[in-house]
Amino acid sequence: MDTAVPSYPSPEVAEAEGSRAPAQELHVRRAGRRRQILAMIAGCYLIDAVILFIYAQAGTVPPTIAPAYAAIGILTVALWTALSESGFNDRFRDHYLVVPQSIISMMMTVAFCYIAPKVSIVFLCTLYLVVGFSSLRATPRQTAICWTFLALGLAALFLLTDKPLGMPTGNGLERLATLLVFLLTLAGCMFLGIFSSALRETLYQRGQKLKEAYRRIEELAELDELTGALNRRSIMHVLDKEMARCRQIGKPCSIVLLDLDLFKRINDTHGHPTGDEVLRTFAITMFANIRSSDHFGRYGGEEFLLVLPGAPADPALRLAERLRQIIADLDWSAFSAGLQVTFSAGVATLRGDETADSLLARADHALYAAKANGRNRITGT
Ligand code: GH3
Ligand code: MG
Ligand code: MG
Repeated sequence: MDTAVPSYPSPEVAEAEGSRAPAQELHVRRAGRRRQILAMIAGCYLIDAVILFIYAQAGTVPPTIAPAYAAIGILTVALWTALSESGFNDRFRDHYLVVPQSIISMMMTVAFCYIAPKVSIVFLCTLYLVVGFSSLRATPRQTAICWTFLALGLAALFLLTDKPLGMPTGNGLERLATLLVFLLTLAGCMFLGIFSSALRETLYQRGQKLKEAYRRIEELAELDELTGALNRRSIMHVLDKEMARCRQIGKPCSIVLLDLDLFKRINDTHGHPTGDEVLRTFAITMFANIRSSDHFGRYGGEEFLLVLPGAPADPALRLAERLRQIIADLDWSAFSAGLQVTFSAGVATLRGDETADSLLARADHALYAAKANGRNRITGT
């Protein structure tokens, strides 16, 4: 009973996928989907033709109606298939050509109401499904266009002709055919409902995946690839934000600028890959020993910045000293025989309305002093 029904599986999804896939691949996939739909439409024409054949057997309509309906239906499907296979559809944003397909289906269906009014129930029920399936894909404007064409066609049928439009129930065969009309139309409506909820579910799942991918991209854009610490841009952004927040709530804010000692020598002696491993382990150890409200980022090369919101000078110095001790006490020889790692650091606490640059300059100055005084030490300002 569901004739010429353009069913449109998840086009938004196809477009989302399309942005990833090369154009060629996308066109092949879309053509495959259109092929499936057109095969389904052809199947619907044939089912309707079988019902018309039963009516013909019951003597309700001439025997030519069923083959004529099937032939015209299959011919239109052949036309859409030829256009689709030639790549014509890909020129349009709506590559399913919803509006022309729906209008032609509707006009053909209304025309058959006129040709075989005694069984117009077959064609009128079909219209429900054409409209239902086309509205799954159509925009409001496209839906309005389809509806207007349909309204004009039906107005001509109902108002400009005086043919009685029938729902045959005169004998057993007619009753059987009419029952099939209703059952198949109802099945079509149910399929429409199931299909649209499956579509919603698919779109929801895709949305969740996109959200997750977006979150991951944001995370990757913020993190240093080697160490997993915040990258320089992010830690500077965090510093600005925390400075403003601490000022607003009247809390202190300290920073620790750390630089691994003689790291060039570590690379030269133990190899660059070992140097990378040291940087990774150093960062992990730092993360394991700071609070979740503290921020740790890679300032550059083997230099790191720790932002300690709410920390006054003394606790910041004590934390830096504790971290220094932890790093110096780690058994680094597991990475490479004789390897030892230490760092020096400068600690500075935010003053009055000084800028981030000034705060960093003071920490850098203190770091320089720590290096000058023999390394593996913490200096305050
Ligand atoms: P100082 O104690 O004065 O800081 O001496 P240093 O050798 O640590 O300082 P210097 O700035 O001369 O050398 C830093 C070295 O860190 C040189 C550079 O090759 C190395 N380095 C920077 N980034 C990386 C990295 O991602 N991986 C590795 N393995 N080494 C790096
Ligand atoms: Mg160094
Ligand atoms: Mg350095």
